[in-house]
Amino acid sequence: MVIFNNDMFEDIAKVTKELWPEMPWPCIRWSDAKFLGGFDGQFFGSEKPLIYISTSLSIKSAVIVLSHELAHAVTYHLGRDYEAHGPKWQDYYDKINKRYNEVASD
Ligand SMILES: [Zn+2]
Repeated sequence: MVIFNNDMFEDIAKVTKELWPEMPWPCIRWSDAKFLGGFDGQFFGSEKPLIYISTSLSIKSAVIVLSHELAHAVTYHLGRDYEAHGPKWQDYYDKINKRYNEVASD
C-alpha cells in the first residue's frame, strides 16, 4: 500500500463521509471505459452504489470527477427522485468541494 500524506482522493472521501456519515459508502473503481466517470446506485443488483472513474484522466480531473460522482451518491442516498444534476445535486457537490477546499488549504 502506498500512502500519500496529501492524498486528494482520500481528502474528498473523508469530507464526504464527515458530511453524510450515514450514507452507504460506494465501491469506487478505476475504469478504462469511454466515460469520464459514472455512478450506479445498484452495484450488481445490491444496494451498494458503484462509482467508476476513467483511468484516462489526469489526477486533478479524476479528483473533480470523484467529487462529482460522490454528489450523485449523496443525491441517490437522500432522494432517488432528485434530478441528476439538479439543485439538490448541485448543493451536495458544492458542500463537498467547499469542505474539501477548507481541508486542503490546512
Ligand atoms: Zn453527473
